[in-house]
Amino acid sequence: MSEMFCYQCEQTAKGVACTVAGVCGKKADVAKEQDVLTAELIALAKVSSGALKDVDLIVDGLFRTVTNVNFDKASIEDHTARVRAARELAGGTLPEGADTLFEGNGDIVSLRSTLLFGLRGMAAYAHHARVLGMRDAQVDAFFIKGMAALVDEHSVDEWLGLLMELGQVNLACMALLDTANTTAYGDPLPAEVTHEIEAGPFIVVTGHDLHDLKMLLEQSKGTGVNIYTHCEMLPAHGYPELRKYDHLRGNFGTAWQNQQKEFDGLPAPILFTTNCLMPPRASYADRVYTTSVVAYPEMAHIGADEAGAKDFSALIAQAIALGGYSTPVQMKGINEGTTVMTGFGRQAILDNAGTIIDAVKAGSIKHFYLVGGCDGAKPGRNYYTDFVRQTPSDTVILTLACGKFRFNDLDIGTVGPFPRILDMGQCNDAYGAVQVAVALAEAFECGVNDLPLTLVLSWYEQKAVCILLSLLSLGIKNIYIGPSLPAFFSETVLNVLVDMFDLHPITTPAADLAAIAAS
Ligand code: SF4
Repeated sequence: MSEMFCYQCEQTAKGVACTVAGVCGKKADVAKEQDVLTAELIALAKVSSGALKDVDLIVDGLFRTVTNVNFDKASIEDHTARVRAARELAGGTLPEGADTLFEGNGDIVSLRSTLLFGLRGMAAYAHHARVLGMRDAQVDAFFIKGMAALVDEHSVDEWLGLLMELGQVNLACMALLDTANTTAYGDPLPAEVTHEIEAGPFIVVTGHDLHDLKMLLEQSKGTGVNIYTHCEMLPAHGYPELRKYDHLRGNFGTAWQNQQKEFDGLPAPILFTTNCLMPPRASYADRVYTTSVVAYPEMAHIGADEAGAKDFSALIAQAIALGGYSTPVQMKGINEGTTVMTGFGRQAILDNAGTIIDAVKAGSIKHFYLVGGCDGAKPGRNYYTDFVRQTPSDTVILTLACGKFRFNDLDIGTVGPFPRILDMGQCNDAYGAVQVAVALAEAFECGVNDLPLTLVLSWYEQKAVCILLSLLSLGIKNIYIGPSLPAFFSETVLNVLVDMFDLHPITTPAADLAAIAAS
């Protein structure tokens, strides 16, 4: 029997499963505790009346199992104990099959895994919306329904129905988060962000949680400590209520998989608000702070009080003590660029819809490519850089999530008044991309699949799973996906998705661009 079994992310060992230790650094005992937690979450869903405290336990438990979020067995055990207590209070027992989710008929295991991993991804979005005071009854209810359904018997059609339902509910969840973010911080506006790090004390903030960033900006105001975003936090520079802080100075480094190299010897603390956390090197381990569901053994963790407030004073004090760089440091993007653009959110693009539609009608914009998704460590991810480089000059690249760091510092010119690369935000801003696509389809009186628009996605972890399900549930076809296919798609399930939705595994940029042009 293997020491662990996990195949939920793109970097899983040998493209099959991590069975000894995680490629991500997750140890077998942590993986096993995550399995125990997952079984308890299912058991709670089985007996829950739908009380919000149960939903919150399920959401935060699922989020703890997302790739690169929580490596701390004690932290996971603590949450498991709380879920178990709630389940026992409701008179529930562990349902049969809750601890053997990955055993049995290969196609059923594949469908069950897709549902579980999609729920894990959606939990992240529901968590972020909740900390901003927003929740949605449909989303809450599906966490109970979906988790309970994992141990029930279903036909293949019923499983597919559950996956499409998850896709629809996740769309509602991303819409909720869009409302939460734009209500709290305003609609994003285009912003040029520097990669230069000024001399003096600073803090690097990574992950997706804008609420944590806002609290840190408020507490560090006037201290002389500058704040730099990292990875998925880059789009924060677009939000008016965040960019108004003068000490939010720029962006540090590139995407998550480069952190061990980029943070090596860093003279500043780093706050991890969500994934992706990698095992820290000794040269900066004493500067790593985690918060919320993120945890790593022996790293400092900042909790919240009853009202959700967090005290970042230790982080600020350490930034001052470390002092930062003595002279400015010019960091660069993967392609040597010194600045990047962000802030082309849903509303910023829709505000310019007339100009865009006129450009399409006049033939100066021939095609839109949404090149988005996660970044990762595998060499095949250069595909996305090469793809963007090879797109014709009369096309626009919409992008979102951290995969954009492969190409967001490239200067590939403009189309009319716009840069050709438009960064729409974090992964959850896939909702905004859908809104833009729907608006364009309405303007051109056609379906989304009839637009000159192709989605070219890169996946890594479970949020990409729920986003893919959302796109499929909308009937969006001809999506290109890579760099490799999920190990948890059985051949039959993959064939079904290919048949139903014309899903394409990526090949080479030249071949895929030619196929898109010919379609
Ligand atoms: Fe392996 Fe990914 Fe699971 Fe980590 S999260 S153990 S890398 S499959």
